[in-house]
Amino acid sequence: MKKLYICINLLILSMPIFQNNVISKLPRMGDSIFAVMSQMADEYEAINLSQGFPDFDISPELIGLVHKYMNEGKNQYAPMQGVPELRQAIADKFFEAHNVRYSPVTEINITAGATQALFTAITAFVREGDEVVIFEPAYDIYDPAVKLNGGILKYAALKHPDYTVNWDDVKKLISHKTRMIIINSPHNPTGSVLKKEDLEALAKITNNTDIIILSDEVYEHLIYDNIQHESVCCIPELLERSLVVGSFGKTFHATGWKMGYCLAPENLMTEFRKAHQFVVFACNTPVQYAIAEFLSDKENYVHLNEFYQRKRDYFVQLISKSRFKILPSSGTYFQLLDYSDFSDEKELDFAIRLTKEYKLASIPVSVFYHRPVNNKVLRFCFAKKEETLEKAAEILCKI
Ligand code: PMP
Ligand code: GLN
Repeated sequence: MKKLYICINLLILSMPIFQNNVISKLPRMGDSIFAVMSQMADEYEAINLSQGFPDFDISPELIGLVHKYMNEGKNQYAPMQGVPELRQAIADKFFEAHNVRYSPVTEINITAGATQALFTAITAFVREGDEVVIFEPAYDIYDPAVKLNGGILKYAALKHPDYTVNWDDVKKLISHKTRMIIINSPHNPTGSVLKKEDLEALAKITNNTDIIILSDEVYEHLIYDNIQHESVCCIPELLERSLVVGSFGKTFHATGWKMGYCLAPENLMTEFRKAHQFVVFACNTPVQYAIAEFLSDKENYVHLNEFYQRKRDYFVQLISKSRFKILPSSGTYFQLLDYSDFSDEKELDFAIRLTKEYKLASIPVSVFYHRPVNNKVLRFCFAKKEETLEKAAEILCKI
């Protein structure tokens, strides 16, 4: 009787296996490197400088605002475009920063993080067989999002070790099939930054085409050494065919809230919204109200660059006597370190060994390429408390 009972339980609990072929749309895709390295960091109790997220608290005032709006009953679906107060606050912020006025009614949409904004923009514009140019190393979502929409990728190289763009090479990738070019500045994973001349070069090579520019600007405030963030919206020839994507996860140290936005001229935004309404429809309501109120005080974000530059400088100073070469990082909260002086190991192998043996997790930059590359560089996130950076630096100095 007991045996029978166990058998029945097993039958109920084990999942049936579909005998036919499961035809994958992303056959070579494994788990994201961020999930893999963070899990490994947990497993080996390593300091986690791999996945990009702060290990310090967010503003208690912002948390208080979320409570306030929850208590006020702002708990049902937000409008599909986002709550009007937040769209207005973003419009005002952009006007002040860049002197460009996006309409909160027709040209701004709130999204579930920048990830959803990017995926939705790609889905709205890229059709089967369209070509999309991305720059490698490339943040991990661009490539699969294009493929899932039937697009074909054209890869432009950022030149190691300063990760600059050769616009003549990019021009050669453009054809009548090019639908979109995706740019990202400040750049994850390298920390490089596009200058105004870069955007002007982009405008020149795409002039008289109908190529859409998707500009990932999530690190707009994390930019150092007195460099200004150049938004694609400041170049008039690009503004009319560009979508700008941002993330409050970065700006307010709250990556887990997944709150972002997309800005675009009305005809592009109309297409974006057609897709957005069926991807997520609306985003977290009380968080939108809270961010709208918090954003209206500039003091809550204008010092972010100084805050993170202090962290970058502190980390770099702590590891200055290590055997790693420190590559320049003018933006984002990532620092690349080059180990070519003392090891020939592949980046992934080195990153795994560092996690398991030395208890320090990082991200191999090679995973951001579609082909095998081994520049012997690892990415370390410095959005961490001083004590975390000190412990990490102590390890790096011993290697
Ligand atoms: N783009 C870049 C370049 C990023 O680094 C990230 C997140 N780290 C995103 C987009 C996604 O942002 P979110 O967490 O708001 O979805
Ligand atoms: N964008 C973050 C990074 O670069 C991670 C985001 C994620 O975990 N998908 O580390």
